[in-house]
Amino acid sequence: MQYRVDPRTGRRLSVLGLGCMRFPGSVPGRPDQRRAEAIIARAVERGVNYLDTAYLYPGNEAVVGAALEHLGLRDQVFLATKLPHASCKDEADLDRIFNEQLHRLRTDRIDYYLIHNITSPAQWTRLVGLGIEAWIARQKAAGRIGAIGFSYHGSTGDFSLVLDAYDWDFCQIQYNYANERYQAGTAGLVAAAGRGLAVFVMEPLLGGRLAGKLPASARRIFDQAADRMVGEGPGAVELTTPAAWGLSWVWDHPEVTMVLSGMTDPEMVDENARIATAALPGALSAAQHEAVARVLQVFERSNRVPCTGCNYCMPCPRGINIPGCFAAYNASFAHSWFTGVSQYFTASAVRTGSPKLASNCVRCGACLSNCPQHIEIPDRLLDVQRRLTPGPIGAALKLIARRKG
Ligand code: SF4
Ligand code: SF4
Repeated sequence: MQYRVDPRTGRRLSVLGLGCMRFPGSVPGRPDQRRAEAIIARAVERGVNYLDTAYLYPGNEAVVGAALEHLGLRDQVFLATKLPHASCKDEADLDRIFNEQLHRLRTDRIDYYLIHNITSPAQWTRLVGLGIEAWIARQKAAGRIGAIGFSYHGSTGDFSLVLDAYDWDFCQIQYNYANERYQAGTAGLVAAAGRGLAVFVMEPLLGGRLAGKLPASARRIFDQAADRMVGEGPGAVELTTPAAWGLSWVWDHPEVTMVLSGMTDPEMVDENARIATAALPGALSAAQHEAVARVLQVFERSNRVPCTGCNYCMPCPRGINIPGCFAAYNASFAHSWFTGVSQYFTASAVRTGSPKLASNCVRCGACLSNCPQHIEIPDRLLDVQRRLTPGPIGAALKLIARRKG
């Protein structure tokens, strides 16, 4: 495993962190304890020493806490979780939520604590009004918080305002080869590192859209690249998958301290750890950067809705599988129209005879403020309908939905 130093704390962090949000489970959003433990155990075995969860990931903190206790690994990892700031109406809420998190995680300290999903400087200003600065100072003094940071999904312009609003220890940004000028972007990465913060990266593969869901023509560019080795001498490894290319591209940046990957089985941990060992800063060649640029051109033609499948917008009161609809829509451009329709039928439960179609949307707006990608969900669901259930197909499905509904 490759380690990089957190410039604020001096801790050696594995460049590969385990993002726990996408732990597998038979029910979406409900992680399976046994499978989560297998992933955590393999990650630590491979040298990963950073785990990231959040209060808002359903059932996730409790699974992570139970796993670490059962495996006896709490002292071998740095544990990160996040404050759901919109739920905090006064200072007592900070204590109440934080204590609940410690209880769920079966620990007496959070090594890295984040204000979750900051999208504007005003959100931090509101928390300052609740007394969060003094609260953080008290938690740090008591050893209950090790380092304080924020995860960010706002605009490029607002990022520096949030950076300058407090003496942060670290920040967590969405960053990958398709998002150089999106949200914090490269400018934000450089600015944060320049201020001496540790920078953690989330969505390095856009929820798999730069990995297994990449269009076949883009995959071919990677597969046919003349130079597919990364690293030096006997430690060099071959970039055999789009995920390996995408992760290596992020690790190529010296400003990046650690990259979170939502690994969903032990084999994925093995593969990512293999690449992490060799993908040092500046390791990609000019020819490899050129291959990534060509893949990006292809990807952008299919990237019609920038949904990462994070599920923050769920559940929809009308039962619509919002990320499933957008994944199907994008697949209809990335692969074929028939692939998209087939995925849409699965996502909207058409074959059960009780479909939850995109047309079920009543524009209630409940999903909108939760989307970190700022997608106009009801409008984009109209696009899904138009493309995937045109004309008589849509009319027939609507009839079935009405009869069953
Ligand atoms: S706006 Fe539409 S998709 Fe969003 S929560 Fe309401 S019904 Fe569901
Ligand atoms: S629509 Fe937005 S909130 Fe919902 S899964 Fe996609 S990115 Fe996440």
